[in-house]
Amino acid sequence: MLIDNYHRPISYLRISLTDRCNLRCIYCMPHEGISLLGHRDVLSFEEIERIASAAARLGIRRVRLTGGEPLVRKGVIGLAGVLMKMPGIEDVSLTTNGTLLTEHAAALRSAGMRRINISLDTLDAEKYKRITRGGDIQKVLDGISAARREGFSPIKINVVAMRGINDDEIEEFARLTIERPVHIRFIEFMPIDIATDWDKDSFISSSETREIIRRVGVLNPVDKCNKSGPAEMYRLEGAAGQLGFISPLSNHFCDTCNRMRLTADGKLRTCLFSDEEIDLKEVLRSGVTDQVLEETIAEAIKSKPKGHSISEPSFKKCRRNMSAIGG
Ligand code: SAM
Repeated sequence: MLIDNYHRPISYLRISLTDRCNLRCIYCMPHEGISLLGHRDVLSFEEIERIASAAARLGIRRVRLTGGEPLVRKGVIGLAGVLMKMPGIEDVSLTTNGTLLTEHAAALRSAGMRRINISLDTLDAEKYKRITRGGDIQKVLDGISAARREGFSPIKINVVAMRGINDDEIEEFARLTIERPVHIRFIEFMPIDIATDWDKDSFISSSETREIIRRVGVLNPVDKCNKSGPAEMYRLEGAAGQLGFISPLSNHFCDTCNRMRLTADGKLRTCLFSDEEIDLKEVLRSGVTDQVLEETIAEAIKSKPKGHSISEPSFKKCRRNMSAIGG
C-alpha cells in the first residue's frame, strides 16, 4: 500500500489525457483560452501505461481519465481497455463533458468501463452556451441517453453550483433524481487559478444547496459506498436516484484524501491545490528502470501536503487552471 506521511492510503489516480477541450467553461478556463501543450510535451499512451502500471504495483486501485476533455484524444478507448486489464487496477472511470459520448459510449462500454461522470451545469440551452462559451446542450443530452442505453451505471452528473448563474436550477436538478436512477452531484465552485474569473459572491456552499433542495422533499443521508469519493450522498424520500455534495471549501476532505493526479504533460500533483509537482515525464524519458519509477512515485507521495489552505487569505492560486490539471 502507498501511504503518505499523514497515514493516508493513496489508492486513486486521476489521469489527465489532454489539456485540450472542445468547450471553454467560464469557471475552468480563462476567456482567452490557454496556451496548449505541444505534441512532444504530452505523455504518450505508452508512457501513461508505464506510470499507471508502476502506480498499480505501489497500491493504486482506481483510475479516472479526465482532461481537458478526455474524449478529444484519439485512442482513448484503447488506453481505457489496457488500463482496465492492468493487474492491480480494479476500476477505471471517466469524467467528460458528454459532447462526444454519443460516438464513444458503446466502445467505452465494450472496453469494460461501467461508470461515467458527465459535467452539466444547466438544463437550459442558452445558459449552457454562455457557461461553456459556445457549447451545444443537445450533444450532452444525447450523450447521456447513449450512456444510459449502453448500461453505464450509475450515471453521475456533475453540477458546479454558482450563485446568479445556475442556483435557480438546483431544485430542477434535484427533481431529476425522483424518477431517474441518476446521481446529481453538486460541486462547490473552486477558486483554482489566477486567470479564471472567480468571485466569492458566486460561491454557494453545499449546506446552502441542500437547504434549497429541502423545498423539493425530505433529504435522507445515504451510506457512502467507496466509489462515491468525497461526495456526501443523500436521497430525496422515495427517489430513484441520489444527490451528492462535494464540498472542497466548506467541508474539505483532506484528512481522507486518497488521490494523486497526473497531468497531460506528465507532472504528478499530490494535491489539487498545490503547484508542487514531480516531473515524471522527465524521469521516464531519462530512461529509468521500472523500479526507479516506482521509487520516484513513492517518494513524491511523501510531499503530499496535510491539507489545502484554499479558504484562507494566505492561499496562493495555482499556476495551472482546472482544465490543465484535470479537476
Ligand atoms: N472535460 C471534462 C468535463 O467537463 O467533465 C473533464 C475535465 S473538467 C476539468 C473536470 C471537472 O472539473 C468537471 O466536472 C468540472 O465541472 C470541474 N471543474 C472545473 N473547474 C472547476 C471549478 N473552478 N470549480 C469546481 N469544479 C470545477
